[in-house]
Amino acid sequence: MAQVVLKQVSKAFQNQSVVKGLDLVIPDGSFTVLVGPSGCGKSTTLRMIAGLEEATGGEILIGEQSVNHVPPGKRDVAMVFQNYALYPTMSVYDNIAYGLRNRGYSKKDCQVLVAEIAGVVGLSDYLKRKPSQLSGGQRQRVALARAMVKKPEVFLMDEPLSNLDAKLRNQMRVELTSLHKQLGSTFIYVTHDQVEAMTMGDQIVVMNEGRIMQVAAPMELYQEPENLFVAQFIGSPA
Ligand code: ADP
Ligand code: MG
Repeated sequence: MAQVVLKQVSKAFQNQSVVKGLDLVIPDGSFTVLVGPSGCGKSTTLRMIAGLEEATGGEILIGEQSVNHVPPGKRDVAMVFQNYALYPTMSVYDNIAYGLRNRGYSKKDCQVLVAEIAGVVGLSDYLKRKPSQLSGGQRQRVALARAMVKKPEVFLMDEPLSNLDAKLRNQMRVELTSLHKQLGSTFIYVTHDQVEAMTMGDQIVVMNEGRIMQVAAPMELYQEPENLFVAQFIGSPA
């Protein structure tokens, strides 16, 4: 079980409060999307779940465990960033296998795991290439594979498609949705794009200025926005 629970989680940078007392339950196995305008605190929230940023207040639980003082490497999470930061001199294989470093796998076990994940993301024929010999979409798949190979309970993604062109973005949206079904892990996906949120998530969390404006399924958000901000942001008729 790896639901993620936020209890009154907040974050301030130099006394400027950017995340303001979030209370949120992210169900095990859900595809939860955090959406909201630029600067509303989405990345900071994700980074606190990953352990890359320490909360100034409140508590975060992953599964049953309170992780406030657990370092990133000891949390059962993997994160994919917007600028997917592959190692340019390493092969696709080594980039993916990098996710397994310090986990004590034998070379053979690594090979089996990398081969399996490469198959899932359609990179089996590209393992010997360097990132520079791949398209943008293939590079993004390597970044996904590097995170997936660790088989995390919780998968954190911060605008992972924003550097791709519109066509590829549509394709990757569909692929991510089916990947989520295959893996069954908890996906927490950050975007500022309402269309992306409405088409990908089963639970949408709308944020504004460090606060949660509404948490709902896409249709409910559209049909029953709880406030003007959500109605305008989602573009619902209400
Ligand atoms: P979003 O991902 O929704 O665009 P962020 O979480 O990146 O928003 O940022 C929320 C606010 O926190 C912004 O005003 C941003 O400038 C500020 N912020 C983010 N990271 C830092 C940091 N390391 N130091 C100071 N301010 C930061
Ligand atoms: Mg961000």
